[in-house]
Amino acid sequence: MRQSQLFTRTRKHAPSDEVSNNAQLLIRAGFLHKELAGVYTFLPLGLRVLERINTIIREEMNSLGGTEILCSALQDKAVWEATGRWDSGDVDVWFKTKLKNDTDLGLGFTHEEPITRMMREHISSYRDLPRYVYQIQTKFRNELRAKSGIMRTREFPMKDLYSFNRDTAGLEEFYNEASDAYLRIFERVGLGASTYKTFASGGSFSKYSHEFQTISDAGEDTIYVDKQRSVAVNKEVLNDDVLTDLDLQREDLVEHRAIEVGNIFKLGSKFSDALGLTYKDEQGQEQPVIMGSYGIGPSRVLGTVAEVLSDSKGLVWPREVAPFAVHIVRLGDGERVVSSADALHATLRATGVDTLYDERPLRPGEKFADADLMGLPVRVVISDKTIESGTYEVSLRSSGEVQMQTEEQLLEELS
Ligand code: ATP
Ligand code: MG
Repeated sequence: MRQSQLFTRTRKHAPSDEVSNNAQLLIRAGFLHKELAGVYTFLPLGLRVLERINTIIREEMNSLGGTEILCSALQDKAVWEATGRWDSGDVDVWFKTKLKNDTDLGLGFTHEEPITRMMREHISSYRDLPRYVYQIQTKFRNELRAKSGIMRTREFPMKDLYSFNRDTAGLEEFYNEASDAYLRIFERVGLGASTYKTFASGGSFSKYSHEFQTISDAGEDTIYVDKQRSVAVNKEVLNDDVLTDLDLQREDLVEHRAIEVGNIFKLGSKFSDALGLTYKDEQGQEQPVIMGSYGIGPSRVLGTVAEVLSDSKGLVWPREVAPFAVHIVRLGDGERVVSSADALHATLRATGVDTLYDERPLRPGEKFADADLMGLPVRVVISDKTIESGTYEVSLRSSGEVQMQTEEQLLEELS
């Protein structure tokens, strides 16, 4: 893409009411537009990152045997009354609305209820199990606080997967596979080194659930990490019993602020009992379907990458989620420079390397500042000087390392 086609502008200052570092950077770099407190629009660059994150999540969910659906946001009150989650006194994040005839509707903040009810039409026998169903869908939550930028918003995409098994053993097995898939996702988006599978409160069916927590001072949670054993515990559940249970020593644990980027939860028959989701086992007996739920917030992941990997000059995108892999920065508009830069842009496009081509008639300082702020992984500078030398000036955004490379070397490196 030619940068002059990009309608978004970079800016020196974020809106004065934007207090979070992630949203400040993402707005300044033209990835996000702030609509309201806790409500953002994804601009072309931000959308490209979000879609890359979604692609990674989809690949991992499909490899678990997940099949994708898309639920409605509008919700039927009756199904939520059946589980006791309609009343706004019990669930304080509901956004609710009404039909013209006064019928109440909700805007889904999660989807256990409608998916469990829907699965009644598709599961009746042990032969129909297991099933793993997921979606990447917009949730609405009337969150009290909106000071974490894109990491906590009132309208946000969520990947939510629901597992349906015959028994607890099936659930356990899938739960562990899902946990491994989550760790692969956080590794692939560039958060592997700072993300811990964390013991958290489990609800009625299971003693613990697991959160995936990325260490960051911008996080809203507090966790205790045993680095040696790669085990973490949320402060909310940490006590002497839990320490004994998990065989942890208090003195091995280090306290950190952290961002909950995902979580997985064993539900047992809580929802299937309330909504009558059963199957006939091999003896013809009706049994409740055993469920689990598995969430990730793609936009929170995006904000976490922005928060954790950025530096004083701006964003720093890992290759797998970057909006473009390469930023060609052309200095000058002489004939030779233009034809050389145009040619490299065409070659990279033909090779399938996503490239942003800065051909704007701006001063080098402005172009470099924009490129630093946007944070694409590889920058290729083309100027009269580089043409003289027969090489490109290639630098890595993450380390700042600069090399003079021939086209052959560059293509080799990118492939
Ligand atoms: P939190 O404790 O941070 O409010 P939660 O426990 O409510 O999160 P879930 O309901 O399990 O989270 O949602 C699954 C995932 O969706 C979370 O792990 C997080 O990545 C993401 N998520 C939750 N709330 C938001 C939000 N308001 N904005 C963006 N992403 C969110
Ligand atoms: Mg919440």
